[in-house]
Amino acid sequence: MNYYSLNNNQNKASFSEAVIKGIAPDKGLYFPENIQALNKDFFNKIEYFSNEEIAYQTIKQFIGNEIPEQELKAIISETLSFDFPLVKLNDNNYILELFHGPTLAFKDVGARFMSRCLGYFSKENCKKTTVLVATSGDTGSAVANGFYKTPNVDVVILYPKGKVSHIQELQLNTLEENITAFAVDGTFDDCQAMVKSAFIDEGLKSIQLTSANSINIARWLPQMWYFFFAYKQLKNKNKDIFISVPSGNFGNICAGLLAEKLGLPISHFIASTNVNDTVPYYLKTSEYTPKASQQTISNAMDVSDPSNFIRIQELFSNDFNALKAALSAYSFTDDITREKIKELKEKHYYIADPHGAVGQLGLDKYHEKYPDSIGISLETAHPIKFLDVVEPIINEKIDLPEHISEILNKTIQNHEISSYKELKSYLLTTDNVVPLSN
Ligand SMILES: *Cc1c(COP(=O)(O)O)cnc(C)c1O
Repeated sequence: MNYYSLNNNQNKASFSEAVIKGIAPDKGLYFPENIQALNKDFFNKIEYFSNEEIAYQTIKQFIGNEIPEQELKAIISETLSFDFPLVKLNDNNYILELFHGPTLAFKDVGARFMSRCLGYFSKENCKKTTVLVATSGDTGSAVANGFYKTPNVDVVILYPKGKVSHIQELQLNTLEENITAFAVDGTFDDCQAMVKSAFIDEGLKSIQLTSANSINIARWLPQMWYFFFAYKQLKNKNKDIFISVPSGNFGNICAGLLAEKLGLPISHFIASTNVNDTVPYYLKTSEYTPKASQQTISNAMDVSDPSNFIRIQELFSNDFNALKAALSAYSFTDDITREKIKELKEKHYYIADPHGAVGQLGLDKYHEKYPDSIGISLETAHPIKFLDVVEPIINEKIDLPEHISEILNKTIQNHEISSYKELKSYLLTTDNVVPLSN
């Protein structure tokens, strides 16, 4: 499978090149050259397939022969080693929980899949890959965990000192082995600037450097699986199904729209945002005018100029009306989101995190028009990750899930840097060749 750059469709790359580079040399996002709908038979029988089989059938065309079948199946099986339960609130309202992975956020699947693909390619080309990533919290923990002990891949994470939550810092800065996290004396933007400097630095050309942010196709593509998993469980209801996706950088919902392009019978998609409402405003007015991003309680969606929106436009051949027919977008304030968290607890005994609550709000909005359709909203993080917000609203303590409680005993590593120069000299001391015995 080939991918082209959305800045110039003459600039192409294979799957492995696109994964290793992350972004095209012309700075465009990669997009698949062909998207082949799956045959009807697949959907007729989908309830008989395991999640792993669905994942393999849906992603294999995007990889082609670049990863052998057995390797790809093993990668999928490791990636999907946890549950994706669908919780019923009432006959027409379901929540698909995507937070049962190791770092309690939906980004785990993309990070785990990407790490294993990169590990495979690094072994094949005998060159170590260094993943460099700046994080404000969630991405760093999913990436650290996803790449932990991946052979031939080193990970360097930069996060703003004192500006990530305690749980996030424990998740991203206690692992050692191939993961090194640096607390940067500065803001997230300072971390991001250092990453950008490294990518254009000629002095680092000897290192195979890549990024693990959400625009990498190996993080984007596997997210389409959630939508097949949800459909499989509700197909026998014989009703229209729509899906509300809490959206920030619009990678997750873009993967949902890709699933639809593959033939998944979803009647409509809802992008639910916080007050960073560039896309809702665009769909209303056809004007795309990103402003400075605003801080909210659903902070993983504090994005004003979503990187993946250009991929969504490409999926619809830049046809505004076609896009509007498939996608609605609504934005919600923090106050309304808090009320929703309270209501979900009181009415349904469900504890939602702020992102999931925004998803439920979008679902309600669409239900006003189509009350007989089944709505599914995605719950993208465990509420414990946002306990400062959620506990005072529901007036209750949230339990830490068993499988992550052990991190509380770990020791945060003490690596700090304050300048790009320090980062560069660290990168130059790492060994770039894969050992022969590997
Ligand atoms: C990243 C994230 C989102 C937003 O997903 P996008 O793909 O960027 O739209 C929503 N919720 C949580 C908890 C996240 O970490």
